[in-house]
Amino acid sequence: MYISRFVTGYHDSYVFRILNDSAVSMKRSGYLEWQEYFMAICFLSAMRSKDPATQVGACIVNDDRKIVGIGYNGMPLGCSDDRLPWSKTASDTLDTKYMYVCHAEMNAIMNKNSADVKGCTIYVALFPCNECAKLIIQSGIRKVVYASDKHASKKSTIASKRLLEMAGVECCQYEPKRRQVVIDFDVIDRSGLSQLPDSPPRQSPVPGPQPEPADCADSVRRNLSALMVEQAGDQGL
Ligand SMILES: [Zn+2]
Repeated sequence: MYISRFVTGYHDSYVFRILNDSAVSMKRSGYLEWQEYFMAICFLSAMRSKDPATQVGACIVNDDRKIVGIGYNGMPLGCSDDRLPWSKTASDTLDTKYMYVCHAEMNAIMNKNSADVKGCTIYVALFPCNECAKLIIQSGIRKVVYASDKHASKKSTIASKRLLEMAGVECCQYEPKRRQVVIDFDVIDRSGLSQLPDSPPRQSPVPGPQPEPADCADSVRRNLSALMVEQAGDQGL
């Protein structure tokens, strides 16, 4: 017998449900491992990039395996990505993206939601360039996990490795254990998932004072908050 809890869509409270199905008495085996999870987040955030040639994501994680920063390559805040160039080559370097784009590592560091990123690990899709290596070192990040090293022969990568090695920042290439991480919204049974319960009823069948009816978005938001609390509990936080 296994006791699980789920969140009702309307009352925002926990309800305990007793399940007799032995199939759910053990944890899943196909869950994402931490490295897969963080690297997948890199590639998910990279999908936000407007760069037509290269989309890169970065994810900074502290010793408690909490994500403290996420970023992807893009134009600086307030600088229109419709007005600035995305070209890699031009007769005038001012007309290339290189003059303007902020790399994923920079954005992840600047987006941090903690006081600092000292001692953290940064997961990146592509080995950091020398400019990002400087930021990584100066911010106190101690480890780089990268997926691709396709620019290994570029001077910027060689300089980056020289700096990171001198500063004692550990670098290791991510070794994927699974070939794919797929999120296919077409196959998600949205009404059948306990994580995303049905839209709340317009009127509660339970008599007595009830909270104000919430719209579906509110319900999902509250349930996600509750799930984050559960997740934090799973991590012993
Ligand atoms: Zn860079």
